[in-house]
Amino acid sequence: MINQTMKKLGEERSVIRELFEYGNRRKAEIGAEKVFDFSLGNPSVPAPACVQEEIGRLLREVPAEVLHGYTSAPGDPAVREAVATYISAAFGAPMSASYVYMTCGAAASLTVALNALCNPGDEVVVLTPCFPEYLVFIGQAGAKTVEVPTNGAFHLDLPALERAIGRRTKAVVVNSPNNPTGAVYGEEEMRALGGLLLRKSAENGAPVYLLADEPYRELSYGAPPVYPMNVYGNTLVLYSFSKSLSLAGERIGYIAVSPQCADADGVFAAVCGAGRSLGFVCAPSLFQRAVSACLGKSCDVELYRKNRDLLLSGLTACGFSCIPPEGAFYLFVKSPEPDAKAFCERAKKYELLLVPSDSFGTEGYVRISYCVARSVIERSLPAFGALAKEYGL
Ligand code: PLP
Repeated sequence: MINQTMKKLGEERSVIRELFEYGNRRKAEIGAEKVFDFSLGNPSVPAPACVQEEIGRLLREVPAEVLHGYTSAPGDPAVREAVATYISAAFGAPMSASYVYMTCGAAASLTVALNALCNPGDEVVVLTPCFPEYLVFIGQAGAKTVEVPTNGAFHLDLPALERAIGRRTKAVVVNSPNNPTGAVYGEEEMRALGGLLLRKSAENGAPVYLLADEPYRELSYGAPPVYPMNVYGNTLVLYSFSKSLSLAGERIGYIAVSPQCADADGVFAAVCGAGRSLGFVCAPSLFQRAVSACLGKSCDVELYRKNRDLLLSGLTACGFSCIPPEGAFYLFVKSPEPDAKAFCERAKKYELLLVPSDSFGTEGYVRISYCVARSVIERSLPAFGALAKEYGL
């Protein structure tokens, strides 16, 4: 018999993907400009010029058999060196190339890190609402997911975390700027989290790791988010260039193991072992090299900020309520009826494609991805207005 868990996973359609496919069918039926697809987190702002320039240079100057060949399993040594130098200089967090592992985006960073750390029976804490794939990745690594709701402002609920972290806790996954809420955790709360994890590690006599899932790091509209390694030693930063450089389809990112991790060499060896066993070795060679020349650069984040402001003011004017997002490119809006799925079905009547928050482990909200052309938001506002009227807002 084939693996039934995998079969079930493959057959289960993601709500977000299903909505996206529905949107494509509707666009073919009634015209693309009449459908307002806010389902996917696919970047709409072009990659910065340095990406194209560097790809062009690499194609012209590096022999094809080198450029398109295998790199070392954890990545090209020069690329790992460049990433380490960047982390040390930009965040003041001393990093060495020997703790950098190039991966195929944040999804691979997460699976590799979880498999590197977890043993059967371990627990991994996630903060809800959260990226739905965390549950899949944690289950695949043989661990159990423990969901801890964030507080009313979608920030860290430290007392709840205190209660949830126990003897079996191997790691806590933190995602800031956050998908789906747009929350960016402040320095103080991150330091408090670091203190809590330090205390819990001492109680357990074993590290409780911080897995910092950081695909939206550069997409922050206020102060830059604190660098997690600077608030807690047992940290693995799981980075991706998918959103910062608008390279989601190219599958490129890295894991940086803090040199301050207890047994950092052992953790890095386990990362290499997990990468090997999962087949995530030698991340795409051309893009390893391309991103290493663009470290610290990002797409035009101002365009996302303008989208956020337009949508936020438009929806608020209609009577919808939402905590203003501090980063990423999602609005997490309160559903005007308790059943967010029913609300999303009603929204479809106006060709508004919104994702119910149940997919993220929280009820009563919808996620609106505003990584779309500004014109889509402009054209959608009358539809949101009509939808609000149905609810008497
Ligand atoms: N983590 C979060 C919070 C995300 O939102 C995403 C993608 O949307 C990922 C991880 C996966 O990112 P990548 O496309 O780099 O694998």
